[in-house]
Amino acid sequence: MTVWIEAELCDGCRRCLKICPYGALELRDGRAYILEQCTFCGACLNVCKKGAILTDAEPRTIPDFSDRKGVWVFAEQRDGELNPVSLELLGKAQVLAETLNQEISALLLGYRVSDLSKTLIKYGADNVYLVEHKALADYRTLAYTKAVEELVRKYKPNIFLIGASHIGRDLAPRVSRRVGVGLTADCTELTIDPDEGILLQTRPAFGGNVMATIANRYSRPQMATVRPGVMEALPKPDKKGNMIKHKVSLLEKEIGTKILEVVKEKKKGVDITKAKVIVAGGRGVGDDKGFKKLQKLAAILGGEVAGTRIVVEKGWIPSENQVGQTGKSVRPEIYIACGVSGAIQHRAGMMNSRYIIAINTDPRAAIFQVADWGIVGDLHEVVPEMIKQLKGKNF
Ligand SMILES: Cc1cc2nc3c(=O)[nH]c(=O)nc-3n(C[C@H](O)[C@H](O)[C@H](O)COP(=O)(O)OP(=O)(O)OC[C@H]3O[C@@H](n4cnc5c(N)ncnc54)[C@H](O)[C@@H]3O)c2cc1C
Repeated sequence: MTVWIEAELCDGCRRCLKICPYGALELRDGRAYILEQCTFCGACLNVCKKGAILTDAEPRTIPDFSDRKGVWVFAEQRDGELNPVSLELLGKAQVLAETLNQEISALLLGYRVSDLSKTLIKYGADNVYLVEHKALADYRTLAYTKAVEELVRKYKPNIFLIGASHIGRDLAPRVSRRVGVGLTADCTELTIDPDEGILLQTRPAFGGNVMATIANRYSRPQMATVRPGVMEALPKPDKKGNMIKHKVSLLEKEIGTKILEVVKEKKKGVDITKAKVIVAGGRGVGDDKGFKKLQKLAAILGGEVAGTRIVVEKGWIPSENQVGQTGKSVRPEIYIACGVSGAIQHRAGMMNSRYIIAINTDPRAAIFQVADWGIVGDLHEVVPEMIKQLKGKNF
């Protein structure tokens, strides 16, 4: 493929110079000129209003995806217990499937797990593809990858969502590679483009400084992972659905790994993703002693204490209690942010909280942009006052 410029058409507007990611264009005598570092990426082709940049490459056509139907969710289970992220994804799948007028299917893999299909249907699945095999009793990468790949190839979904859990982060890229499609990891929002009907997958990029929206026009299924706690489960108690059994042949020798022993690590602290109330502290708390006030307030409200990455780095709270892009995503009923500036990486983990209360001395702090109630003041005065007012009340 080559790219060239019809010099007489070029008006020297510089649009192509600005868009070129490789600095491979410059102006010579008022006309664009292609330098040798051009990689023929094609980024300049569409910005030229005069049609002066030409290529011999065939225009890329969007394949016919009319046989690709349905929104799929990988139903992750361990020891017969569903990971809540799968139910959250079924909640988002309901919204996407309604827009597309397509069905929702859950993929349930394991051994003697068929009972879980009822729960999946009650959380929105129209169909549950059930694959049961002894070799699937515990998660093993190659066994699960083979079964999921077979299902994708046979039933041809349009969209496929997987939780960004330990298992999901291992499985999703394997499957996407096997079926030859892209994968957008750690999405924080998923919507359908109203014009093209394709999945718009939003996730933090460049160290969390911008939110990038990624769309996949040229392959199916459109695959994304979503972190636990980001989406909302939407139970549908009266929903009815079908179970479709799929047989898979799995030989130990092709699985590559053997589980000798399962050792469960005792959970150290509390699980903030399950808390209904979170009192979070940031650098403004001052020191670890300052967190005692926050703990008192959390105890009165029956909640847990969490914090920003900075306070974890300072050792004021354990790392399991960090909220944000590199911490946990939480969605409590009430999130009280004390001395938290509200950096985008922190907001990514808490902005789905039902009600956000922010206490900050700086009225311009970004946390106030997402807060339902903002208190401009010193947390060392405000928090003790809140404790005083709330003491003795029942929650
Ligand atoms: C790749 C990457 C990933 C990241 N991941 C995360 C993440 O997962 N989670 C996370 O939290 N951060 C993360 N960060 C860091 C993030 O960018 C911010 O630096 C961090 O969130 C800021 O923490 P903070 O709000 O505690 O501190 P600061 O930004 O320093 O804010 C302190 C706030 O306290 C207020 N304040 C000071 N004294 C008082 C007082 N007495 N009373 C009331 N208010 C007071 C100040 O006005 C200020 O707004 C990440 C950064 C990068 C680059």
